[in-house]
Amino acid sequence: MKAQPKASHFVNGDWLEDEAGEVIEVTYPYTGEVIARLHAATPAVIEAAIASAEAAQAEWAAQAPVERARILQRAVAIIRARAEELAQLETLDTGKPIQETRVADWPSGADALEYFAGLAPTLTGETIPLGGDFAYTIREPLGVCAGIGAWNYPSQIACWKAAPALSTGNAMVFKPSEMTPLGALKLAEIFVEAGLPAGIFNVVQGYGPVGAALATDPRIAKVSLTGSVPTGAKVYQAAAAGMKHVTMELGGKSPLIVFDDASIEDAVGAAMLGNFYSSGQICSNGTRVFVQKGIKAAFLKRLAERTGAILAGDPLAEDSQFGPLISAAQHAKVMAYIETAKREGARLICGGASGNEGALFVQPTVFADVTDDMTIAREEIFGPVMSVLDFETEDEVVARANGTQFGLAAGVFTGDLARGHRVIGRLQAGTCWINAYNLTPVQMPFGAVKASGLGRENSRAAIEHYTQVKSVYVGLNPVDSPY
Ligand code: NAD
Repeated sequence: MKAQPKASHFVNGDWLEDEAGEVIEVTYPYTGEVIARLHAATPAVIEAAIASAEAAQAEWAAQAPVERARILQRAVAIIRARAEELAQLETLDTGKPIQETRVADWPSGADALEYFAGLAPTLTGETIPLGGDFAYTIREPLGVCAGIGAWNYPSQIACWKAAPALSTGNAMVFKPSEMTPLGALKLAEIFVEAGLPAGIFNVVQGYGPVGAALATDPRIAKVSLTGSVPTGAKVYQAAAAGMKHVTMELGGKSPLIVFDDASIEDAVGAAMLGNFYSSGQICSNGTRVFVQKGIKAAFLKRLAERTGAILAGDPLAEDSQFGPLISAAQHAKVMAYIETAKREGARLICGGASGNEGALFVQPTVFADVTDDMTIAREEIFGPVMSVLDFETEDEVVARANGTQFGLAAGVFTGDLARGHRVIGRLQAGTCWINAYNLTPVQMPFGAVKASGLGRENSRAAIEHYTQVKSVYVGLNPVDSPY
């Protein structure tokens, strides 16, 4: 199986290679087979990407918004027409089941491009009457934005960042994760086919230092990162030195609260979705499942039955529901968390071992009787490990749910909608669900509070993070000067 692109980078509308860069081997996580060999961007490649973005941006910003939108809409049509090929590439890049990549990854990216292509041309400023004079405002692009991606949703992340950026007249230099570099290159290729001018969307490959080079370059006006909290702190600091705008989509340890009056079937389904989809490698997962004592036994019984029926296997097989983790390092990290949980006294309900389907599988794992002080209740695992914690009262669960540095997401399952809204109102999280979990339609802002990040992706809210307001005072009267 090979997925070798024509070159490692896509700069100024064309492929670019510089073999002096450190080698990046891209493996298919299911088999470990090397499917592509790329090079990290050298300083010359980074320079070419930023320079081409800077040179092209003003003309792009000067185009009528509907013209920019037409190009993005053409990209949407291409993505939809090539859906199956793109899903297969995403599965090779990430190891996620084809069942998932057909419905979640590129389709969500295409939704974002379509949404912002529609939204950007509707943006208007304000007119502000000032007696005889008046003022008006215009929303202007920021300039050249840097996008830095994580490995769990490589194509979706690239699209979620490119869509609001490009539709509002910015250019972008995007650095995908070194572990999943293929989807962003495909997006760059599709954009050119759709008519995007050269230099408006560039892709450079590399490890952390390439991201750091983007975050510190004075020509970059904004950095949008999807990654872990420690990386976020570094990138935020680098961006602050240059007074750059930032969007930070970072890690989490989100609570999913199940009250006694919830539908057990729905709550179990959501807890599985929010812990086992993408083999648990999702930032907003509800990894702390708080279950009220009255339904604990019934919840755990049904959870174990349904978890035991998950079909793990070859991600490209039609019936596989569950794939491997991204890398040997991630596999070792997740297995170490499982061992720590056992040692600290959590009760294993199911899973708890490596899967037999391949080297990087971890069984869907559920621990019960988890307490707030256990390591698996405090740290982001980024694997298929669910912690079930007991609780008795609403006040208690709210305090415990909020007792973490993270604040990405939260969910509540209850038959009492008034309680659902009340509890969500008290939770410290940017993205919440009542009787649902992990659904992220493009119309809904997505983002975090506390250490999990700042800024919002998707929805109208993202426009604010890729534009800035210019105020213009218009004098219509003789200038009243004291001099
Ligand atoms: P990571 O932080 O290791 O890397 C993220 C990206 O940052 C990569 O492209 C990496 O090369 C780059 N990077 C690393 N060091 C850098 C530096 N000093 N300067 C600039 N860039 C640097 O994260 P990961 O392991 O790829 O992804 C998993 C993490 O991402 C998890 O914590 C997960 O919760 C988070 N995540 C968050 C969201 C969200 O929307 N909130 C979505 C997906 C993943």
